[in-house]
Amino acid sequence: MHLHPLEDELLSSWLIRMAHAHYMYPTTFLNLHIKNTRTNSYTRRDIDFYDNKEFFDLLSKKSILSKSELLNMSLRSQEGYLFINQSLYPPQQIRRLIDKRTHFGLMYCPKCLETDEIPYWRKKWRYFFYTACPKHKIFLTDRCWHCYKPIKLLKMELTDKINYCSNCGADLGLTDTHQDNIPDDYGLEAIRWFEEGLERGYFKINRQKVWSAMFFHIFCRLYYLLDRKQDLVLPNFLKLNEYKDICKKHEVYNSKKASAVYKIFYVNSMIFHLFQNFPFNFLDFIESNHLTYREFTHGFKYIPFWYENLLMELIPKQNKIGREISESEVVGAINYLKSQGKIVNQLNVAEVVGCHFTIHKRFVGIYKKLNFRNY
Ligand SMILES: [Zn+2]
Ligand SMILES: [Zn+2]
Repeated sequence: MHLHPLEDELLSSWLIRMAHAHYMYPTTFLNLHIKNTRTNSYTRRDIDFYDNKEFFDLLSKKSILSKSELLNMSLRSQEGYLFINQSLYPPQQIRRLIDKRTHFGLMYCPKCLETDEIPYWRKKWRYFFYTACPKHKIFLTDRCWHCYKPIKLLKMELTDKINYCSNCGADLGLTDTHQDNIPDDYGLEAIRWFEEGLERGYFKINRQKVWSAMFFHIFCRLYYLLDRKQDLVLPNFLKLNEYKDICKKHEVYNSKKASAVYKIFYVNSMIFHLFQNFPFNFLDFIESNHLTYREFTHGFKYIPFWYENLLMELIPKQNKIGREISESEVVGAINYLKSQGKIVNQLNVAEVVGCHFTIHKRFVGIYKKLNFRNY
């Protein structure tokens, strides 16, 4: 009995369909057919991010699928497209199976399960940018809303279809999420844009082709820079208040987990927003929040060329607060102005030093100190 993978199907989803087709529990099926010398139990593993060679060798020996077909169902296949680092744990671009800070367990779109001819679980439901289903215009959800338990695919009961809760048996396609609110179209457009770029392998930014893995690498930094909560200034982003309201709720109530997906949805839309109407939205973000070159690049092992170029274009050199300025440099600039018979003020001195006269905090500090001493 052999089954072919469905479009964008997760490895674990296919394995469970296979097990059920053989009238076996997934764990029994795995332990019986894919006995691995290194692991005794698969249930505690994130099979979809598993990269054990022996595991895939065994799988391809036992099934009619080629090794590349099998690997294609694994989230590892997104390496080089969605993420670049090789680690044991899923990188930021991929949601962990369970992450108590942001979600309860594996996420899914109930409507997709409901309308599938053969219900199955998608790879994209684990991508960080994929917070809502653009087709059904609803948020993904992270549990069974009948018993409130997280989704455990490998524990699913023996059935003809794999859309039932492993705990209470409720049909997950009919689960009532209580929060069915339809996200705004802009956010859905963002998800489609990320998805298309990932499928194509590149994004078009500033008339340039940007390799998708590099884009998603930068994505994480932009996420961090945008998630400034109440301090964020982004006047052209229409859902700014919605985002801030969610952040407020996070502080007041113990509702982090429940609303994390909404917050991520809005921050992701903001990342999309930065690249719309380019370069105006991006520039607006930099200027309104007084961001520096350093904040966009600090800590990167390497900076993609397109990103560096983009920043060079958008952030004037004087705005790069990363450069250290010493007191003697400022004193030197003052002396220089004096010797030239020019007016000594904060603006003129900054110009000689080569930094911004109000944004560069260290410069402002030194200048004020010297000025106080009546230099
Ligand atoms: Zn859907
Ligand atoms: Zn349930």
